[in-house]
Amino acid sequence: MTKQLIKINKIDAVSLGIDKKLISINALKVLQRLTKSGYQAFLVGGCIRDLLLDIRPKDFDVATDAEPEEIKSLFRNCRLIGRRFRLAHIRFGRELIEVATYRSSAESDNERSKHDNKGRILRDNVYGSIEEDVFRRDFKCNALYYDSDKDKVWDFVNGLNDIEACQLNFIGDPVKRIQEDPVRMLRAVRFKAKLNFKIDSELSNKIKMNAHLLNGIPAARIFDEFIKLFQSGYAEKTFDSLLTFNLFKELFPETDKQIKTDVNLKYFIENALKNTDTRIKNRQSITPMFLLGVFLWGPISKKANKIRQKSKSSKAQSLILASYDVIGTHQDRLAIPKRFSSIMREMFVAQAKFEVTTEAQAKKMSDSRIFRAAYDFLLLRSTTNDCPKEVIDFWTKVEQKTNNTSLRFKKNKKYRSKR
Ligand code: ATP
Ligand code: MG
Repeated sequence: MTKQLIKINKIDAVSLGIDKKLISINALKVLQRLTKSGYQAFLVGGCIRDLLLDIRPKDFDVATDAEPEEIKSLFRNCRLIGRRFRLAHIRFGRELIEVATYRSSAESDNERSKHDNKGRILRDNVYGSIEEDVFRRDFKCNALYYDSDKDKVWDFVNGLNDIEACQLNFIGDPVKRIQEDPVRMLRAVRFKAKLNFKIDSELSNKIKMNAHLLNGIPAARIFDEFIKLFQSGYAEKTFDSLLTFNLFKELFPETDKQIKTDVNLKYFIENALKNTDTRIKNRQSITPMFLLGVFLWGPISKKANKIRQKSKSSKAQSLILASYDVIGTHQDRLAIPKRFSSIMREMFVAQAKFEVTTEAQAKKMSDSRIFRAAYDFLLLRSTTNDCPKEVIDFWTKVEQKTNNTSLRFKKNKKYRSKR
């Protein structure tokens, strides 16, 4: 794409309903300092998209023609991060403004950016012009630039049309963009759920056909995306779309197979995701460990049953063995950090221990660090009749007692909630 062919639409932000008061003062300060020093600087990406959709932006990203070292020399509170892409992080107390130098579009510059034989980008840390920066972005709605000085939105790709139509479209050829970076398919699902956007049938088919490309992505990056997919408050909708687009099986292949024949398992997962969304709405704490446990429970309990059929191991032992096995086989898909997998195993083993309903067991279990999460997991299992009612009733009483005691304890200690 040559520069002359690119038409920029510059539209008054006020006429688009952008409320400048919703923009972070710190982000505006960064823009101001950069422009006063003779550089070009814009707010870009998700923050502008969200402002246009009346959603409070999660964070504010800046794009500029200043290079990382130049940015660093302008801000005392700046740190350069990243090896593949050098980015500047400018800190204001708890707020972090990410400033990125314009990068060249992988599509427009095959000389400087490298691809593997499947078209995946291996290197694209090449600085470019703003026009190039636009075309390396994923979706049209994510490629709007806001000039705070003139209070204008710059639209190079008709991104505003997509926002108005609530439609998700890639910039450029969708298949090529998916091949360059298959994670963009997960991003599509995330934005569909978060923004309530449509994905047309043509693009849907292209995603379904290319879903398998996710298996070439490093498992640690998939884990990061997993967190964004399921801990942003739209987990239930996201799960539904991942299934529709054949993407769920790339994350949890065994669970995907199992839910096709086991409606209870699907219902169990949906209930867990509904709870997660509600907890996020109510600003209650959540942990990826619990959700990972929910997604892996099907294959793990199935495997544990098989182990018990073959050997004389106890339920707890078989769950430990099955957890090691199933978590292990998932590691090359989704890298689960050890700090989560060990506590997840404890939560599974607790499910077996809950079957013993004695006072001694109640004392032992309620003292353990995993009790609360394991009890919540038990409750979830009860929604699909996965455990006897007497067991639930017994542990519910224990939980209530524990809760009361700890509340009394907290009162005596003048406990103050951090939340
Ligand atoms: P949110 O912050 O709500 O998750 P976002 O669109 O801001 O959404 P980020 O991951 O913060 O998402 O990325 C910021 C911007 O960087 C995006 O809007 C997009 O323009 C660009 N971008 C991010 N990831 C990619 C990618 N994999 N391919 C192309 N462009 C990307
Ligand atoms: Mg963002």
